[in-house]
Amino acid sequence: MIKIEDVTYEYNSIGEEGQLRAIRNLSIDVKRGEFLVILGHNGSGKSTLAKLMNGLLIPTKGDIYVMGMNTKDENKIWNIREKAGMVFQNPDNQIVATIVEEDVAFGPENQGIPPAEIRKRVDEALRIVEMTEYKRHAPHLLSGGQKQRVAIAGILAMNPDCIIFDEPTAMLDPTGRIEVMNTIKKLNKVEEKTIVLITHYMDEAVEADRILVMEQGEIVMAGTPREIFKQVKKVKELGLDVPQVTELVYELRKEGIDIQEDILTVEELVRLL
Ligand code: ADP
Ligand code: MG
Repeated sequence: MIKIEDVTYEYNSIGEEGQLRAIRNLSIDVKRGEFLVILGHNGSGKSTLAKLMNGLLIPTKGDIYVMGMNTKDENKIWNIREKAGMVFQNPDNQIVATIVEEDVAFGPENQGIPPAEIRKRVDEALRIVEMTEYKRHAPHLLSGGQKQRVAIAGILAMNPDCIIFDEPTAMLDPTGRIEVMNTIKKLNKVEEKTIVLITHYMDEAVEADRILVMEQGEIVMAGTPREIFKQVKKVKELGLDVPQVTELVYELRKEGIDIQEDILTVEELVRLL
């Protein structure tokens, strides 16, 4: 779906330091249908990587291909942004209209899609994010989780194959976080969208097929959630948390209790104990 080949990205920062190298010689493949989570502490380069993936930023060195289209190809840039849609942290910055259905229609209208087809896409997108009953509501009166689901519907209406989420739940309350995570899981499992999710919540990361951990613009760990979170010490050294169960298993093992290392869910641990 997305191929990143030996990419470096430098910001031209003002001041004496000159260039800031936010991504360093990074190569990854995002597979079709995959649920990929990217972790890393603040400033490790996650948002820069996300913006490179849908052509909002262009590599200083190396190449990125979205479904075979190079993000450096100016003729392909709109196509790339349709195929790899992006959802950001703050839903208020992503909502543009005063009625939910008009907001969701904004993307396909700009794509020049015929009105009948737009109506179909809007209905379908609102159905998927379970916001149909709010079709004629004013977005600013919705909860954070609902607004973020409207923002997701707006991306869905453009028919993407891949959606890149940059900390989509960071500004939401616990209920909103659950709503949005359930929507993201459904997009992957039911709608078969490729998902790239940047998050700092470990309970969200355990849902992934694969996790990449970033540090100073590089990938420093890669593996399934089990492979990553059994390395409690290493994950913590990178400034990240581990899921609560994983932490408990780690402490129990330190006390000499012989318990399987790669536990991810409360149910598994309860069964073993
Ligand atoms: P993350 O999303 O993991 O917190 P970012 O990709 O936002 O990391 O930032 C990576 C590095 O690039 C940081 O050192 C950050 O300060 C720097 N950076 C991010 N955006 C800009 C920008 N627009 N101009 C200059 N430097 C930036
Ligand atoms: Mg960020």
